[in-house]
Amino acid sequence: MVEIKHHGAITGVTGSCHELVLDKRSSVLIDCGMFQGAENGGSESDNLQLDFPIDSVKALFITHCHIDHVGRIPSLIAAGFSGPIYASKATTKLLPLVLEDALKIGVTRNEALIGKFLQLLEKQLQPLEYKHWYVIDAVKGLRCRYKPAGHILGSAYIEFEYNNEIIVFSGDLGAPYAPLLPAPKSPWRADRLIIESTYGDKVHENRRDRRQQLEAIIRHCLKDTGTVLIPAFSIGRTQELLYELEDIIHKQKGTAWENIDVIVDSPLAAKFTEHYRELNDLWDAEAKARKGKGRSPLAFEQLITIDSHADHTKLVNYLKNSGKPAIVIAASGMCAGGRIVNYLKALLGDTRTDVLFVGYQAKGTPGSDIQRYGPRGGYVYLDDEKIDIKAGVHTLSGYSAHADQKNLINFVKRMRHKPKEIRIVHGDPEAKQALKEKLSGGCPAAKIIIP
Ligand SMILES: [Zn+2]
Repeated sequence: MVEIKHHGAITGVTGSCHELVLDKRSSVLIDCGMFQGAENGGSESDNLQLDFPIDSVKALFITHCHIDHVGRIPSLIAAGFSGPIYASKATTKLLPLVLEDALKIGVTRNEALIGKFLQLLEKQLQPLEYKHWYVIDAVKGLRCRYKPAGHILGSAYIEFEYNNEIIVFSGDLGAPYAPLLPAPKSPWRADRLIIESTYGDKVHENRRDRRQQLEAIIRHCLKDTGTVLIPAFSIGRTQELLYELEDIIHKQKGTAWENIDVIVDSPLAAKFTEHYRELNDLWDAEAKARKGKGRSPLAFEQLITIDSHADHTKLVNYLKNSGKPAIVIAASGMCAGGRIVNYLKALLGDTRTDVLFVGYQAKGTPGSDIQRYGPRGGYVYLDDEKIDIKAGVHTLSGYSAHADQKNLINFVKRMRHKPKEIRIVHGDPEAKQALKEKLSGGCPAAKIIIP
């Protein structure tokens, strides 16, 4: 029987990398992600290391282009891997952007070196269409099919067929009612399933409540003027927010809402938004219908994108002095770096400012400190500078691109032929355990493993 090895995403939610060992001489990898934070138990440089032999690896299959699923690809290529890298069409477009950015931030500023890597990557990348079975030449007898996972643009779960067995890797699964992308549909059959469990122990707030909260916060901001700062990841969450904001503004036609500037200050996010716009055949029915009515959910009148650093600095100063109502979305999501830091330094001391967190803030990050101490008029250290917080601080939960417990259970329950074995990965211990218990009830015949 085909063996499955896990080289990451078993002690936490990062470093996704699984190996399907087909025989003594050939195997394939599913994702090759970077460890983040302290999840590898090692140092920053350990987070990029490959700690397993790659001589037998014939091909790499990517589920989606988040860094915890693709960040170790440069290490893999540097170690001599020259086989094909399969990904959905959209992912093959986004992946070079993500890795270029990651290399610049974390590894080297050497443009020539990065250029050389990107050239190799382009040669190895093989775009696959969703919903088609492909014969994989690199491994005799292996076929695969990509299906939309609804997580971020281009995301997929992968079905492999080998020796009459179907093995499914979930990658990261999207939440059914997330904006923009259609919900994932369960596979018809899986003999073995490797499933993520990021929110294996949680149920999300519903989308309508979340939207109302977003609207209420922006309404408040319009009242006292000033800037709403939203620290956000470039990929996925930024585009979801823009989509929701367009709709909120659209519904307030003829009011002051039409004068609000929505600013995306991140070259990477802007490039991603462009791809989201271009690949609108991947949107869900609601987004397509809005477009059909002549609306531009990701390119509306109020949307401004900032590219150069000079424009960024100018804008920070302008907002500081003018107090004009504006919404700024900038990375990084946990305020540990990136352009958001300059906005925070300039605007946290202003009572007209509101900071809105839409993503998880890991302990010890400036984002988490602002969240904890901000509401009591505390302070935060940014670039070793002590900044007093007079701004309003808000947190919107539930803006997650991940399926929750119910969605994960449904993904399995709705299969026509249910798995005999389920491996739970990509989650904290509590999340994995909670999901295991629920799955045991729903699939009594399955052997459920937490690797
Ligand atoms: Zn992801």
